[in-house]
Amino acid sequence: MKKISLLGATGSIGIQTLDVIASHPNEFNLVSMSFGSNVKSGIDIIKKFKPKFVAVKDKDTYSLLIDTFGSGDITFHYGQDGLIEAAVFDDVDILVNAVVGSVGLVPTLKAIEHGITIALANKETLVTAGHIVMELANQYNVPILPVDSEHSAIYQCLQGEDTKAIDKLIITASGGSFRDKTRDELKGVTVEQALNHPNWSMGAKITIDSATMMNKGLEVIEAHWLFQMPYEKIEVLLHKESIIHSMVQFEDYSVIAQLGTPDMRVPIQYALSYPNRLPIHNGNRLNLSEIGLLHFEQMDFDRFRSLYLAFESGKSGGTMPTVLNASNEVAVAAFLKGQISFLKIDEIIEKALDSHANITHPTLEQIQEVDKLTRTYVQSLIS
Ligand code: NDP
Ligand code: MG
Repeated sequence: MKKISLLGATGSIGIQTLDVIASHPNEFNLVSMSFGSNVKSGIDIIKKFKPKFVAVKDKDTYSLLIDTFGSGDITFHYGQDGLIEAAVFDDVDILVNAVVGSVGLVPTLKAIEHGITIALANKETLVTAGHIVMELANQYNVPILPVDSEHSAIYQCLQGEDTKAIDKLIITASGGSFRDKTRDELKGVTVEQALNHPNWSMGAKITIDSATMMNKGLEVIEAHWLFQMPYEKIEVLLHKESIIHSMVQFEDYSVIAQLGTPDMRVPIQYALSYPNRLPIHNGNRLNLSEIGLLHFEQMDFDRFRSLYLAFESGKSGGTMPTVLNASNEVAVAAFLKGQISFLKIDEIIEKALDSHANITHPTLEQIQEVDKLTRTYVQSLIS
């Protein structure tokens, strides 16, 4: 029985993680969890899974939970301290980090220091501070298991393989809600249109990231750190069907791919059951003869400016990816609130990157400072 802590239980990945846990009660046990401010869903989860520890974002939500559950078997906490405590509670076996944004960074680092295996959905963590996370994971000999479907695919393709013989990683991209629109046609698009992803149902932030292609950009940086791969050896390929979740090409030009119907529970479950596999509850078998054709296209870096910016920031390294991520988080939040237009997102990120003096080999404190300053700067651009 693996003891699990889940950060971001009320989110899209969180709910699907709970589905995996519930469908294998002899394998997994949820002992600790966190959520933001979705109290209704949070209370339902607590009643169903009976964790021992629950952290929430703010004090008001915390007080509401104390009123509801009293001070009985469950320990409640809130804020950043709560999030960290939830991550390492009772020395769980696996931390599933499914919060959105760089707020997930410190809990990941603390869990690594406790020797807890990380199942990482929270890609912003690796984008913001990849070298710190990976160095610490190395030092403590802690596996970082990817939950993101592309990275899970690559991880699966690499099992038992000679990683020194990798020629390149090929990350597939569905293209997001606006894949068939030209940049000119993006001028008047609405939040509602952007939230309408053709293949995946996900949280709001990542759905917008998919529409701008920043999601793929963040994934390129994530892959760079997870698989220690230079950017020259990472390629992004447009693949509208989302059937091939990613591929690895080796030096003999053999290509190994991982395929399946789009279902995030598969990579989540693989991270939880690794190195074993378990049956998937109510899953959909892949039927290739029914699908018939799979399509592939080269990425257009002018059309998808965010992807270009992500590659460039990744190659520059230092604090550039921190600026990329923080400016994106603020710009996307502003777009979702109707404060800026869709095309402004890329523009703002580029401005933030242009005005930043890169710090190479930053410490955690420098990263946190740059993250904070970028948010303030971008907020001033917006207002
Ligand atoms: P959601 O927005 O659906 O969920 C985010 C979760 O984090 C919610 O439980 C939310 O709580 C909680 N949360 C948000 N802000 C805070 C905060 N400041 N403190 C504590 N908790 C907070 O996101 P997704 O599930 O879509 O994505 C989660 C992560 O996984 C992201 O990094 C995303 O990029 C990555 N990912 C997601 C995929 C998907 O299919 N959704 C696929 C691959 C990666 P509440 O709602 O209660 O406020
Ligand atoms: Mg992905």
